[in-house]
Amino acid sequence: MRTALFPRAALCVALGLALSPAFAAGKPAMLDKWTGPFGGVPAWDKVKVSEFEAAFQAAITENRAELKAIADNTAAPDFDNTIAALEKAGGALNRFYTYFGIHSSTLNVGDMPKIESALAPKQAAYGDEVTQNAKLFARIEAVYNAPEKAKLTPEQQRLTWLYYTNFVRSGAKLDAKQKARLSELNQRLASLYTSFGQNVLFDEQNGYTVLDEASMKGLPADIKDAAQRAAEAKKLKGKYLIANTRSAADPFLTLSEDRAAREKVWRAFIGRGDMGGEHDNNKLITEILELRYERAQLLGYKSHAHWRLEQEMAQTPERAVALMEAVWKPGAAAVARDVAEMQKLIDAEGGKYKLAAWDYRYISEKLRKAKYDLDMTEVSNYLQLDRLREGMFWMAAKLYDLHFSQLSNVAVYHPDVTVYEVKNGKGQHVGLWYFDPYARDGKRSGAWMNAYRNQERFNGEITTIVSNNANFVKGKDGAPVLISWDDAETLFHEFGHALHGLLSDVNYPTLSGTSVSRDFVEFPSQIHEHWLATPEVLNKFALHYQTGKPIPAALVDKIEKAATFNEGFRTMEYLGSAVIDMKLHLAGAGPIDPDKFEREELKKLGMPEEIVMRHRTPQFNHVFSGDGYSAGYYAYLWADSLTADVWEAFEEGKGAWDENVALRFRKNILSVGNTVDQAQAFRNFRGRDVDTQALMRKRGFVEAEKTAGQ
Ligand SMILES: [Zn+2]
Repeated sequence: MRTALFPRAALCVALGLALSPAFAAGKPAMLDKWTGPFGGVPAWDKVKVSEFEAAFQAAITENRAELKAIADNTAAPDFDNTIAALEKAGGALNRFYTYFGIHSSTLNVGDMPKIESALAPKQAAYGDEVTQNAKLFARIEAVYNAPEKAKLTPEQQRLTWLYYTNFVRSGAKLDAKQKARLSELNQRLASLYTSFGQNVLFDEQNGYTVLDEASMKGLPADIKDAAQRAAEAKKLKGKYLIANTRSAADPFLTLSEDRAAREKVWRAFIGRGDMGGEHDNNKLITEILELRYERAQLLGYKSHAHWRLEQEMAQTPERAVALMEAVWKPGAAAVARDVAEMQKLIDAEGGKYKLAAWDYRYISEKLRKAKYDLDMTEVSNYLQLDRLREGMFWMAAKLYDLHFSQLSNVAVYHPDVTVYEVKNGKGQHVGLWYFDPYARDGKRSGAWMNAYRNQERFNGEITTIVSNNANFVKGKDGAPVLISWDDAETLFHEFGHALHGLLSDVNYPTLSGTSVSRDFVEFPSQIHEHWLATPEVLNKFALHYQTGKPIPAALVDKIEKAATFNEGFRTMEYLGSAVIDMKLHLAGAGPIDPDKFEREELKKLGMPEEIVMRHRTPQFNHVFSGDGYSAGYYAYLWADSLTADVWEAFEEGKGAWDENVALRFRKNILSVGNTVDQAQAFRNFRGRDVDTQALMRKRGFVEAEKTAGQ
């Protein structure tokens, strides 16, 4: 749940506006139609960073011409000449955004940050130009209101509704003066989002902590090695460098015995974007919140949160808040119980200090060992990245009859990237899966999935191209990469997003794969985390990196018994972020001082003082480096309520590998994309609305409540 879909900023991409035919000479080669196998693949060799600006201009020129042809059509507007025509448009622009997105998220070095800053407002302006095109909107509206709409297929009707709604929500019905102001707001916001993300990246790359060997006590050899190599790369001989990223900070905070060093690493990590000076994000947040509020008012909504949630499964901020409140109390109670136990442990060991935020991961790990005799570093010895990847493939074969095989004839944008072909049980091509697992300079932290190409078939069979991205640290001299249990879950999570894209079976690209509401899209990913913990996957793929022996049954048993251990911490560090996100976007007209707001609201809410928000406001990329998850971080909890309920459907059947349940899950959820209303899709699978008690059971809050009450 730490992960996000790759945010594709441009509205035109979300709307599937695209273009293709002949274009004047001199356009950058990166806009060329993809050629080669599988209906064409991205041509990375044609991408020159220096041509991004020219390519964008050429792509929108081409797109303008095509949209003009649709808008100026003298025939009466109908589905084919308007909606379907829009679905066919935008090829060059989509290709531009695929390449540009890869470079801004995984190769953001050299001139790239500058180019990104220069292009962000222009991209926003073009999005507005499209949605504010009165002639085009008039045709969409005519199709939407025409009685003939009833004769279209349900999928076509939904697509028409979606175009109409997206245009209206983007200001198509405003007057000229309002439209101009809206566009100003969107352009300014786009610049602020870019600066925000770049500031966080700056602090992640420059805010590292340099330590002596003594501070590395408690850390396993592979982490020590990586820290030593990172220091050597900065010419810091004999030192150890802990990068200011989650994948480096979390293991250190979990394992380092040096309390002072833990505090140092913790402060650097939670201080990202909040260090004062030119890379501080606080002023940017204040302005973003003010502009978002003004935009919501302009569009006729009470707040940014109301505008954002209208199209989500939750529909209103109130329903999202209600779910968060329902979980808050049991979550905080679980933390209080855990903290009391941890303090006892500290006292028993003669530590004369009160548990602080930088001790939480370290002491809770000790508590896990004490209570369950479970050592997660021992577990990591069985979690080899390459084997787990094979485990995911095995899961996909068993559940969905999908088969992965590595290709060597498809170009990549970096030598670390590998490409796999995906086929179904009949040997037919389904799509491509790109895997970019390792951290490097210029790659944003975390893990995510994105689609290079959506599945569609209304205009010929087009197959999916998706990618999974992560930030694992490469092994020394090709040694196996050992990852944590949390990271293994993340791996399966992102692969779940990929499967959602690969199993798409729809006609129109705008409705394809993961193009569903934000609070639904995390559910197909989260549910796949569950299969990691099945004995079948662990026995076959959790193999010791030295002996090759499968993980002992006794260890698996302990993992199962400790399944809800530390759930209070996980819930509260997440909820702190989710509630603050929502409250910031319900707070109305500013100005808001984010540091003060965060401090005071968390106090009012009764946030346990031993836990800090998973993403503090000044580093909250989900919310402030784009509109993507703004007033939307709650989505992970919402989706988890669906996940928990659907997992129980497997358990009510023959268990994790029940073929019939998997088939129904695929048919009703994974393959339908956005062709069905998401609440209805859930109902189609489960036969009823979601039971949120399943979430309480999953997190161990129901039993804990009972015990506490006894
Ligand atoms: Zn996700």
